[in-house]
Amino acid sequence: MAVLWLDEISADDLEKVGGKGASLGELTGAGLPVPPGFVVTAGTYRSFIEEAQIDEELFEAVDIDVEDSTALSAAADRAQELILETPFPDELREEILATYREVGDGEAFVAVRSSATAEDLPDASFAGQQETFLNVTEEDLLDRVRECWASLFTQRAIYYRQEQGFDHSAVNIAVVVQRMVDADKSGVMFTSHPSTGDPTMIIEAAWGLGEAVVSGAVSPDNYVVPRDDDDLEVTVAEKKVMHVKDDETGETVEREVPEDKRTARVIGDDEIDELVELGERVEDHYGDPQDVEWAIADGKVYMLQSRPITTISESDGEGAADPTEGGVDPTKGVTDGSGSTATQSTATDSKASAADSGDVIVDGLGSSPGTVSGAARIVEKLDDLDKVGEGDVIVTEMTMPDMVPAMKRASGIITDEGGMTSHAAIVSRELGVPAIVGTTNATTVLEDGQVVTLDGDKGQVLEGEEVEPEEETEPVEEVRPQSPVKPMTATEVKVNVSIPEAAERAAATGADGVGLLRMEHMILSLNRTPAKFIEEEGEDAYINQLVDGIRGVADEFYPRPVRTRTLDAPTDEFRQLEGGEDEPDEHNPMLGYRGIRRSLDRPDVFAHELEAFRRLYEMGYDNVELMFPLVNDAEDVYRAKSLMREAGIDPEKRKWGVMIETPASALAVEEMAGAGIDFASFGTNDLTQYTLAVDRNNENVADRFDELHPSVLRLIGDVIETCREHDVDTSICGQAGSKPEMVQFLVNEGISSISANIDAVRDVQHEVKRVEQKLLLDSVR
Ligand code: PEP
Ligand code: MG
Repeated sequence: MAVLWLDEISADDLEKVGGKGASLGELTGAGLPVPPGFVVTAGTYRSFIEEAQIDEELFEAVDIDVEDSTALSAAADRAQELILETPFPDELREEILATYREVGDGEAFVAVRSSATAEDLPDASFAGQQETFLNVTEEDLLDRVRECWASLFTQRAIYYRQEQGFDHSAVNIAVVVQRMVDADKSGVMFTSHPSTGDPTMIIEAAWGLGEAVVSGAVSPDNYVVPRDDDDLEVTVAEKKVMHVKDDETGETVEREVPEDKRTARVIGDDEIDELVELGERVEDHYGDPQDVEWAIADGKVYMLQSRPITTISESDGEGAADPTEGGVDPTKGVTDGSGSTATQSTATDSKASAADSGDVIVDGLGSSPGTVSGAARIVEKLDDLDKVGEGDVIVTEMTMPDMVPAMKRASGIITDEGGMTSHAAIVSRELGVPAIVGTTNATTVLEDGQVVTLDGDKGQVLEGEEVEPEEETEPVEEVRPQSPVKPMTATEVKVNVSIPEAAERAAATGADGVGLLRMEHMILSLNRTPAKFIEEEGEDAYINQLVDGIRGVADEFYPRPVRTRTLDAPTDEFRQLEGGEDEPDEHNPMLGYRGIRRSLDRPDVFAHELEAFRRLYEMGYDNVELMFPLVNDAEDVYRAKSLMREAGIDPEKRKWGVMIETPASALAVEEMAGAGIDFASFGTNDLTQYTLAVDRNNENVADRFDELHPSVLRLIGDVIETCREHDVDTSICGQAGSKPEMVQFLVNEGISSISANIDAVRDVQHEVKRVEQKLLLDSVR
């Protein structure tokens, strides 16, 4: 038998039907309302490749050095081609089609999904894209099944299996074919709290088909249903779009939610009761809390999928499993986040609060939190880096990209220059190393070898050792006491990443994605300007550097979105690199040749960046989003969009948008919406500098650098309002997104997402939740 009906399947058939198939079979067998369907078994895939005798060639094709991007791309193309171009044997074709015809009299629209047969492995990414095709009819069914099989050989899947040491030939794939439920409403349900395990059901619900909720395209309503008769807690989200089936084409399309339904509650009390009852039955059946996908069509409730919640901790919610290790899908809005994010100690925990004693000898801006003691190492030139040992404190005028390895070894960083958005501040925060910037005089006041204590919260350097030695050696292991529960919020909370090395730490915060991945740090770490690197290593090597840097982060977060920004380095930063002598010498680099203006001026160079994105999309990294920095008007956007097209990236298929960093761009956002942007993200570091004419890196005017200045806020508020009218998402990725006052302002204005520094993610999540709850209360009072 090439296929098995869902009611013939039980959990014991995991090997044959994969995790998804087995779970649906179990639910069907337990009498739960699962839409009818069948599974093309993993054995069928196997015999298909074996009988066609393409198996050996297939596995040989993918036996390559995956670090060689060109070879990887060729291998994926070849493997997929082998599968897609091999015809079905007649008997198999007939068996699948005959079975399909029994589902809904042969007229049914079905969903076709891949179901990997080793989903219990730590990372299901090995199985490929987990293809899902909706609204499939008889005409396309066989092609879709073959595409599910071929998804086992995307570049991403091949790379992953090789990295993890899985044998390509040992992985199989089944395909679930199931009647579509033309849902009026749908969502997910956690039968226990996904972080704490509390006996509370959490239901998320939105209009239309469930994909919009699962993919994160809409912010769903949130219903918290305590099982001990406590009050139901309802958070109604603004649901702008929904996914529905187009009656003519049968395809799933995104539609605007009618005005009267946007802020209306999606499910009523009776439906909640019905869902809760079903949730209890599923949980009883499995004996474990479940994460369920459900849908309601014509008043009937269906269960589409159920998986165990793997993120609930064994110990009262503390130290729950790493959310990156499968389990709760973070894009659903309910994520674990685990609560045990390793962040630097703050002055509130076991370490001594440094500023309680000892003399303050230097002060500046506390730019990365935590308190540490260590020997000061004055770094004047790169050769001095060798003397920075484990646990030392780097003291330097300003950090540079090639200092990053030493910054990782150091217990703390102090600089003379720079503000909260300088290289030292950004990198130290991401590394979790306490830092103070903009002291003006640390390199002259402090002596080499002098033992100091650095308080990165207060921005103070004290004489002597105030922190116990055993703690100072492993500062990053310290766990900051914070709530173990990631609050559920309608506004997404994301994280900023600048150095790919920080990706793992960033992902472990449970953030809803990356709101800003700065590409320039990947280039600065090459220590050569792009032109120099290309001259010495070639274009392909340069593109591959970008691909690898972005891929590291995109993998860590998959499927959470990673908003990646094209290059934006001012010429003075490039000047420090090899080849930097060719950079234009600018009187004011901040107002100069950077961001999209440079990219549009040199489309030949920009094409390499875009090619890196194209390759990532081809590899299957559909979570990568593209963002253009420092645009001023719609013309900039149209020109960038046309270069995207020229590079082979379809702007209609990918999520892309712009940074709002100049007053001009804020004032032109309506026209930019017309150019088709999906999102606008506030770069408040620049927006503040350009609105107030305050150089962001000049400590002489640091006291005037105020992101909360009424004029900056007015620009931001107006942009959010305009974007809401045009269905463009808004977000913040400047430093100010980590400030509670800014968070309050933005949530009140209706921003779609906030991207914070790694160490601030949890606090921002709580602040967002607080403001959202207050908004809700205010609306009913
Ligand atoms: C900003 O300007 O706020 C921003 C996020 O970009 P960058 O700091 O890289 O200029
Ligand atoms: Mg900027």
